[in-house]
Amino acid sequence: MINLKGKVAVITGSGRGIGKSVAEKLAEAGADIIITDILVEAGEATAKEIAKKYNVETLFVESNVTNSESCVALAKATMEKFGRIDILVNNAGITRDGLFMRMKEIDFDLVIDINLKGAFNTTQAFYRTMTKQRTGSIINMASVVGLMGNAGQVNYSASKAGLIGMTKSLAREAAKRNVRVNAVAPGYIQSEMTDVLSPEAKEMMMRNVPLEIMGTPEDVANAVLFLSSDLSSYITGQTLSVNGGMIMQ
Ligand code: NAD
Repeated sequence: MINLKGKVAVITGSGRGIGKSVAEKLAEAGADIIITDILVEAGEATAKEIAKKYNVETLFVESNVTNSESCVALAKATMEKFGRIDILVNNAGITRDGLFMRMKEIDFDLVIDINLKGAFNTTQAFYRTMTKQRTGSIINMASVVGLMGNAGQVNYSASKAGLIGMTKSLAREAAKRNVRVNAVAPGYIQSEMTDVLSPEAKEMMMRNVPLEIMGTPEDVANAVLFLSSDLSSYITGQTLSVNGGMIMQ
C-alpha cells in the first residue's frame, strides 16, 4: 500500500469534483492536505470532512489561481502550518465551450487564464521551496482533448495542450533538483463539468470509449496517487491517460 504519511499535498480546485476525490485519495494514504478553491463553503466543508474521515491535518485556503498574489498567500499559509510541500496538484479548471466561429475572446482568455496560467502561478509560488527541499511531485490536470482536440473546445484543448508542454519543459528544468513534473489526462469523467452535457452528447462520446463507460473521479485520483508516490520515482515529464482507451499513444 502507498504510504504518504509525513507528506503535505496542495490540490487546487479541490472543493468538489475530481480535486476533492484526489484530496481524499491522498489523505487516505496519510498525507496532510491543503484544500484550496474559490468556492469557500464547499472548500471549508471538504477540508473538515477529510480531516475527520482520514485522521489527517487539513487546511482550507481561499485562493484564485488567476491571481499570483493569491497563490503566494496560499504558499505562505501552507508553509506557516506545515513547513513543507511535497505534492502539488494543479487541478483547478473550467470550460467555456462553443464553436470557434462564435467563440468570444473573453471565453478564450478566461479558459487560458485559469487552466494554463493558473498552473503557472501556483507552481511558481511553491517551486522554490520544492527545489530547496530537493524533493517534490507536481501533477498537472490535463485532458484527453489536449492530446486529440475536440470540436467546440478550441480554448479548452489549447489550455490543456499548453499544460502538457509546460509539464515537459518544467520536468526537464526540475529534474536536477529531484522535483518531478507529470500530467494526468482524463477522458470523460462523471463530474459537474460533464453533468451539463446532453444525453445525446454523452452517448456519442461513449461510442469512442472501448471500455464503454465514463470514468469516475476516483479513477483519476488513483493515477494522481501513483504519480505522487515513490512508486513513480523514475517517471517525469509524462502524461498519464485515464480515458477508458479512448486514445492510445
Ligand atoms: P469541477 O468544475 O467539478 O471542479 C473544478 C474546480 O475548480 C471547482 O471546485 C472550481 O471552483 C475550481 N476553480 C475554478 N476556477 C478556479 C480559480 N480561478 N481558482 C481556483 N479554483 C477554481 O470540474 P472537474 O470535472 O472536477 O475538473 C477538475 C479538473 O479536471 C479540471 O482541470 C478539468 O479540466 C479536468 N478534467 C475534467 C474532465 C471531466 O470529464 N470531468 C476531463 C478531463 C479533465
